[in-house]
Amino acid sequence: MKDDKRKRLIEKCKHFAKKNEFCLTLATVYIFCVIVVSNIYSHFKKAILITVAAVTAAIILICCIWRMRDSNVRPEDTYISNDTVSDAVGSNTDVVTDSKADEITDNISADASEKNYPDETDSDIILVNKTHPIPDGYEPDLVIIENDLKCDRQALEPITSLIEDAEKEEIKLVISSAYRDYDRQKDIFDKKVRQYMLYGYSYAEAYKKTATENSIPGSSEHEIGLAFDIVSEDHEKMNEEFGSTDAGKWLDKNCYRYGFIIRYPKGKEEVTGIIYEPWHIRYVGVDAAKEIYKEHITLEEYLERR
Ligand SMILES: [Zn+2]
Repeated sequence: MKDDKRKRLIEKCKHFAKKNEFCLTLATVYIFCVIVVSNIYSHFKKAILITVAAVTAAIILICCIWRMRDSNVRPEDTYISNDTVSDAVGSNTDVVTDSKADEITDNISADASEKNYPDETDSDIILVNKTHPIPDGYEPDLVIIENDLKCDRQALEPITSLIEDAEKEEIKLVISSAYRDYDRQKDIFDKKVRQYMLYGYSYAEAYKKTATENSIPGSSEHEIGLAFDIVSEDHEKMNEEFGSTDAGKWLDKNCYRYGFIIRYPKGKEEVTGIIYEPWHIRYVGVDAAKEIYKEHITLEEYLERR
């Protein structure tokens, strides 16, 4: 087989590999074998080998076209509306039952341990989600929590008290993440998109799926310094199971007392556009947090009532 043909086949392999690494590896091995065998037996089995190579090239071409159908979509072309997010999340609506709502209400009525932090007025509560990106020029008033962890000044005392009070009850909470700037949020988001693409998703599919699990850069509450990812020494992973641990249950039941809410609750995925995240809390002030917890609503629903 001539060098130019060999080069062309290798180029096709490379192109295919970019689209699907696993299939590309298989295709590379296969094409390599064809080339080797063709060099050895080309003088008397040429017709058969050319047929095999042609069929292989055709298969690769078809696969490439199939993989490339929507992988040329760039982020700016992919507006993720609430509807598309809902499609990706599905209709997982594990709505709280009346008895559960009553139980929550009773607990709140009997609770006298709410903290008295200087509260935000409702008009101060900034809504940040896919359809409400952070306003241009917004600058959080950052303070250091410890080491390289930072948050907005208004959340410092509440988050510190929450961690300390939990520890008094043998719940060892750990702040996994607090303030993140745009670049850091973009790194996290892009990395996740790439991971999904390695699993075989197209760019558009990977982007859409990532957007239900991570906030799009420029619309993350971490970027305003009012959100925290909380795990525990016994359960360091940020996953759904955290909500079933003692630490997750404590956080769910008590964070409102400090002015925090579980921002992406179970059963509200279609409202928030984000999957259930029992580890992600958002500071909104005690009054708002209490009502949101009591009514089992989201920040979106709370602000809509105002
Ligand atoms: Zn988070």
